[in-house]
Amino acid sequence: MGKKVLISGAGVAGATAAYWLARAGFEVTVVERASGARSSGSPVDVKGPAVDVVEKMGVMARLREVDSPTDRMTFVDANGRRLAGIPLRAFSGAAGAREVEVARADLASILVDAGRDTVEYRWGDTITDLVHDDAGVDVTFAAAPPSRFDAVIGADGLHSTVRHLTFGPEGSFIRHTGMYVATMPIDEPTGDDTEVLIYNTPGRAVAVHPNRGHAIAAFIFRRAEVPGYDYRDLDQHKRVLAEAFPDTGWLLPNLLDRLRHTDDLYFDSISRMRLPRWSEGRVGLVGDAAAAVSLFGDGSTLAIAGGYRLAEELSGSPSQVAAALRRYETRHRPLVRSKQQAFRVARALLLPATRPGIALRNAVARVTPVLAGLSSEGGRRARGSAAGTGRAADRMG
Ligand SMILES: Cc1cc2nc3c(=O)[nH]c(=O)nc-3n(C[C@H](O)[C@H](O)[C@H](O)COP(=O)(O)OP(=O)(O)OC[C@H]3O[C@@H](n4cnc5c(N)ncnc54)[C@H](O)[C@@H]3O)c2cc1C
Repeated sequence: MGKKVLISGAGVAGATAAYWLARAGFEVTVVERASGARSSGSPVDVKGPAVDVVEKMGVMARLREVDSPTDRMTFVDANGRRLAGIPLRAFSGAAGAREVEVARADLASILVDAGRDTVEYRWGDTITDLVHDDAGVDVTFAAAPPSRFDAVIGADGLHSTVRHLTFGPEGSFIRHTGMYVATMPIDEPTGDDTEVLIYNTPGRAVAVHPNRGHAIAAFIFRRAEVPGYDYRDLDQHKRVLAEAFPDTGWLLPNLLDRLRHTDDLYFDSISRMRLPRWSEGRVGLVGDAAAAVSLFGDGSTLAIAGGYRLAEELSGSPSQVAAALRRYETRHRPLVRSKQQAFRVARALLLPATRPGIALRNAVARVTPVLAGLSSEGGRRARGSAAGTGRAADRMG
């Protein structure tokens, strides 16, 4: 019988790691708190190193069916007039035309489907306790009977339960960046399937992504930590958003009206993780649980690449779990670190803090090659101009 691995979270990282571990002969169980499919969620990218991984999993054709490629990000004013734009190809990674952009939930469910025959998926359950020793990990669940595993992987996102049980409360590791994000389906065509529209006021942005005729609105705003913030409290989220967007420009009256009535709202603090290490003995972390980069990094790409690398290292030495988890971290952390560093520039470009900052950003947006510094691959191409982008970002706020 193969070694037993438990993965908490059937998201992007969990489903990828599960597929590859099962292929390598591990007996893999995935426990997912959600009982059913989530709403389609924000479009996320499968770029760079993740493209090879999904191709090897044989799911690229399915991803292409739900691909919602956009080729422009356009900044508009309060009347919807187009002020400036960025061709999004400037942000393409090394895999170029092989890259796809798909709704987060579509990506996760396609990755889950890839391993459905070889992985045991348990929906609507969660880990409640973990005790690890040199030979294994004893796990207690909310619903299923307790069981012992050779390794436990936390792929349960920004608010990871495995991380909490292993390293302590998230307040010690998660840093609020002074911004929040919310997304909500509009589920109507927006006219142009290839263009993301963004309306800025100081410290706030409202974006509409066409998402193949089922548009998604995103609200991003600067704000100090909400006192008593609870990432699961929908009423609190709606109140915070209504306060944050008193404006009436562009589509805001319509979007805020929809917001008041929706039950399908994603809302969270934009946070950064600073964990000194990603594993403790036989318990490891991957994806946002280990190192969230939120919407300003390549979180889904990093989750796929991380899930694959973790599986690769565990498969290489299945009897030395702790050492394999440390090797995975050594290989993967530099990639994550480089994305976390792009954060300051991305924030300044998408969310300028002042009116002069917005005007300057629009001026910079007209000089597209400079913006290529945002993506690491683009950054390599535009290494000479990246320092200039950072200086411009500082002036934008
Ligand atoms: C608004 C927004 C926009 C984004 N845009 C982009 C983008 O354009 N490009 C990009 O690359 N990335 C983007 N990201 C980031 C990307 O979505 C994440 O980095 C990526 O989904 C991380 O994958 P993950 O598997 O670690 O976590 P998730 O995909 O969050 O999956 C975690 C899973 O764990 C489950 N879970 C949670 N707690 C438990 C528990 N206790 N027990 C069992 N299961 C549990 C959850 O239900 C979920 O299924 C964006 C993120 C946000 C919030």
